Amino acid sequence: MSDLIVWQSPLRTRFRGIDVREGAVIRGERGWGEWSPFLEYGTAEVEPWLRCAEEAAAGDWPEPVRDAVAVNVTVPATDPERAHRIVREGGCRTAKVKVAERGQSLADDLARIEAVRDAIGPDGLIRVDANGGWSVEEAIVAISALDTAAHGLEYVEQPAKTVEELAQVRRRVEVPIAADESIRRAGDPYRVRDLEAADIAVLKVQPLGGVRACLRIAEEIGLPVVVSSALETTLGLAAGVALAAALPELPHACGLATGQLLVDDVVRDRLLPVDGMLPVRRPGELAVDRALLAEVAAPVERQHWWAARLAEVHAFRDAARSSGAGVRDDRR
Ligand SMILES: [Mg+2]
Repeated sequence: MSDLIVWQSPLRTRFRGIDVREGAVIRGERGWGEWSPFLEYGTAEVEPWLRCAEEAAAGDWPEPVRDAVAVNVTVPATDPERAHRIVREGGCRTAKVKVAERGQSLADDLARIEAVRDAIGPDGLIRVDANGGWSVEEAIVAISALDTAAHGLEYVEQPAKTVEELAQVRRRVEVPIAADESIRRAGDPYRVRDLEAADIAVLKVQPLGGVRACLRIAEEIGLPVVVSSALETTLGLAAGVALAAALPELPHACGLATGQLLVDDVVRDRLLPVDGMLPVRRPGELAVDRALLAEVAAPVERQHWWAARLAEVHAFRDAARSSGAGVRDDRR
C-alpha cells in the first residue's frame, strides 16, 4: 500500500456545499497524518496543510499540558425545537449557535438563542457564529439583542466579513469578538492583532501549517485561542487536540467536536466527545486501521488526482527553495 491514501466519507449533513468529504492520509516514520485541504484550493494554499500532516506523521507534536480538552456543541441555523434537542444531546457546557443565516431574520436567531439557553441552563456558555453575515450596523443591533436574549454571550465569532469591519464592530460592542474566517493564512493572525480586530483567535492547524506553527502564532499574537477543525477525520482532529492540549492557557472550549459530521473514519477508536471533553492522544496512539482505510479508500482516479496534487506541492517547495524565498516566510 502506498504512503498516500485517499479516503472519502459521506457527511451527515450537507456542509460547505458538499455531501462527501474527501482527503488523504500520509504515512511517515512515526505514524500517520491527515492531509485534507478542500478540493478547490490551489497549490500554495494546500502546502501548509501538508506540513501539518508531515508533522503528525513524524510524531513531532509538543508535549501536552492537559489530558483532556473541553469542546462545544454546534447548533446549525435551525428551528428552536431542533436547536434545543441538539444542545441536550450534545452534553457540552458550551454551545456555538449559527446566526445571520441568509434567508432568516434576527427573530429566528433570537428564538434559537432562547431555546439554547433553556437547554444548556444558566451556567452553560453560549457563543454565536455569524460567519461574516452581518454589515457593521447590522452586527451592532444583532449582537446587543442576542446578548440580551442569551442572558450574556461568551463571544461573537466573525460578525462581519473583513478584518477592518471586525475592528469597527469590536469598538462598538461589549461582547468579545472572535476572528475565524479572517484567519486562514499564516500572516492573518498578525493582521488581526495589529488592527485590534478581535479578542479571540480561532486557529485551525491544517491551514496554518501544523501544531507547532499554531503554537508559535498563539504566542506571538498574545490572544486567547479557540482551536477549531476543518471537517476532519479523527486523525486531523487529534492534531487540533494536540494544539489545544499544548497551549499554556485554554480559557474557552474548542470547536473540535466535529467527528460525528463524517459517517466514516480512518481510525476505529474515534475522537468523539464524552461529557463535553475530548481525550488527548499522542501520535503513537493513533492507529490508522488498514482494513478501515481499505473500506473508505477513494476510487483509483481520485488516488491519482491526489498523488498529482502532492507532486505539485513538492515542485512548489522546490521552486520556492531555489528562488531563496522559502515557503515559511509568509508571516508578517
Ligand atoms: Mg466560524
